[in-house]
Amino acid sequence: MAARVVVVGSYNQDMVWRTARFPVPGETRLGAFDTGPGGKGFNQAIACARQGAATHFIGALGDDALARGMRELALSEGLALHCETHTGLSTGTAAILVEDSGQNLIVVGPGANAALSVAHIESQAAVIRAARVLVTQHEVNHAASLAAQKIARAAGVLCMHNPAPPVDARDLELVKGADLITPNETEFVQLLNLRGLDAPPADALADLNDAELHALCRQLQVGSVVITLGARGAFVSHVGSLLRSDATSHYRSAPERVQAVDTTGAGDAFSGALAAAMAGAPDAPFADAVRQAGRVAALSTERHGAALAIPRQDEVERRFKV
Ligand code: ADP
Repeated sequence: MAARVVVVGSYNQDMVWRTARFPVPGETRLGAFDTGPGGKGFNQAIACARQGAATHFIGALGDDALARGMRELALSEGLALHCETHTGLSTGTAAILVEDSGQNLIVVGPGANAALSVAHIESQAAVIRAARVLVTQHEVNHAASLAAQKIARAAGVLCMHNPAPPVDARDLELVKGADLITPNETEFVQLLNLRGLDAPPADALADLNDAELHALCRQLQVGSVVITLGARGAFVSHVGSLLRSDATSHYRSAPERVQAVDTTGAGDAFSGALAAAMAGAPDAPFADAVRQAGRVAALSTERHGAALAIPRQDEVERRFKV
């Protein structure tokens, strides 16, 4: 049977309007509309399922047309859903305005995501305990994510945490409980700052030497840290006592060459694919899983959109001749 990954996280319906320039307050302008599935949790679950891992998604939805659309999509993607329904709350939404200059304005309506309950997580304890990897982020009720992590830890399930979007000091609890975290540069710097530690500016991070980056990672006191560096690939740092079959405690993973047109959701593609790779081959060198995640994420940037821009395993194999 395929390895199991459980993602506890958000679903948002992304609604995108492209317009020549943003309206000013009180003004109405015309634009081209598009909509698609998103939300960090769901993107990561799709990335994982599309790499062939048996993937379970635990989240919260409203009782509305957006939820019905999401359930149909999950079914067609082979994603097992364990979602709580909140009548009276909307399914999560994101209103995104993009103007020709490339700038965007975004309003997120968390809706049901913020109401994901601890009771629902506890009702799914058997699903979590049966996983090889649990994946969490910061886009649903914090207490629910924490409850899932506690159940997973007690059962020896590997806990991966993607500390995004960066929020507040409460989120450090999820970071502390994780075996592995996958921040981007901005999130990494914010985590250091939240812990009261000095950090260089996010855009200077990739230029630090490896020993300096490793030392910064170690200050977070998480077993393994993978910083995603956009077009510059990723940096891996392990605590010396747990190298996850790697030859060294820290190294860079080179980026793949792609023609990026939209990097939305690249980080989600990376985390979901990393979870799939680790669940599929838990004893393989971690560097192999990171390389595979980088391939999936890089290819996702060649298409517009979030969840549906994520490539399937066979596309990735064809493109990179794996
Ligand atoms: P986020 O979307 O969270 O900001 P990043 O921008 O760091 O995340 O991207 C995540 C991963 O996606 C990177 O580590 C890299 O593997 C891949 N990636 C992103 N942008 C590019 C690019 N332009 N070329 C190649 N790979 C990319």
